[in-house]
Amino acid sequence: MLVRIVLYNQIFRFAVKDRKDISMKGKITKELLSAGEDLLGWYEGSKRTFPWRNTDDPYRIWISEVMLQQTQTSRAADYYLRWMELFPTLEDLARATEEGVLKAWEGLGYYGRAKNLLRAARLLAEEGRDTLPSELHALLSLPGVGTYTAAAVASIAFGLAVPALDANAKRVFARLTDLELPVDRAEGEEILRNFMGGMMPRQKPGDFNQAVMDLGATVCLSVTPSCPLCPLRKVCLSAERKTIPQRPVFSQRKKSASIEGQLWVLKSEGMVCLRRRPSKGLWADFEEFPWSAPPLEERVLPFPPPAPGFFSSLGRVRSSFTRWRLTLEVLLFEGKAGADFAPSQARWVEGRELETLPLPGPSRKARELLFAKGVISVR
Ligand code: SF4
Repeated sequence: MLVRIVLYNQIFRFAVKDRKDISMKGKITKELLSAGEDLLGWYEGSKRTFPWRNTDDPYRIWISEVMLQQTQTSRAADYYLRWMELFPTLEDLARATEEGVLKAWEGLGYYGRAKNLLRAARLLAEEGRDTLPSELHALLSLPGVGTYTAAAVASIAFGLAVPALDANAKRVFARLTDLELPVDRAEGEEILRNFMGGMMPRQKPGDFNQAVMDLGATVCLSVTPSCPLCPLRKVCLSAERKTIPQRPVFSQRKKSASIEGQLWVLKSEGMVCLRRRPSKGLWADFEEFPWSAPPLEERVLPFPPPAPGFFSSLGRVRSSFTRWRLTLEVLLFEGKAGADFAPSQARWVEGRELETLPLPGPSRKARELLFAKGVISVR
């Protein structure tokens, strides 16, 4: 609760400030503070069309914003449309099974986000709500809703003047203000959020946030920004000082380490063996093909591995995590369950079921290999 209150104060603080009160080491100019109107004008003529932009339904905007944190807009559009066919309303989502929700989310990664969507929908349904709350603090209290998502939903769906500071917005505002501080640290973020809030026209905060998103995605690109096309070029300090390639600044991050391991497909009489993961931690509660890649996955298999020599390699699958780049060799063992291998705490599934199960990334890619190579089929 304390964390929520702190977050609420952080993102709401700018709103009680007068624009003139916002200071950032003397770098803000009067012209820059009025540039928000120019950006809105640009947005009117240049905004991208997406299925979630045809609605003011807070539920739909919430789902789209969470999906957009996982993937690019073009891919998110497919997921969004499929999701809305399955769960068109908050009530439909609240009634869904976790397996159904995870299946709809499959491929987007960070499955905790999908679980949180379901938890939040159920909590709201228990409170008798058929849509999301309009208050910022109530949005922030929902499972999985952080400052960005709350601000995006609050501004786009409910017209609250709160800045939605995502990676695109950080890049745009770090360049506008020529910010020398890292944008992935609290101090830098707060400066940008305050500045963005001060620049935001109060009559169309949702459009302003979406205009910043679109500007960052189409004009103020990471490597090749199109400054001549930018509605903010006259007030961009980085353009003036020729520091664009150096902005934004990020804090030093450790490089991710490469690790290799094996993923085992045990096949018996047209079925393959899946184990269930622990209910906490990575891919909690998912079923998957057993795999091992220390130090990421120290866990030993819940069954003795088959005798060496009775397997074939189907190829390699890869996954990336914040700290690791994982490569797993997919090994197929064919034999007879019980005689050649006798896993406990695991179950055998046929191709038809395997095709529809939500699986973590490595197992999903291994499943694609199995179907592509005809190892297993949907009968
Ligand atoms: S002028 Fe260039 S660097 Fe500055 S905000 Fe516009 S596109 Fe980005």
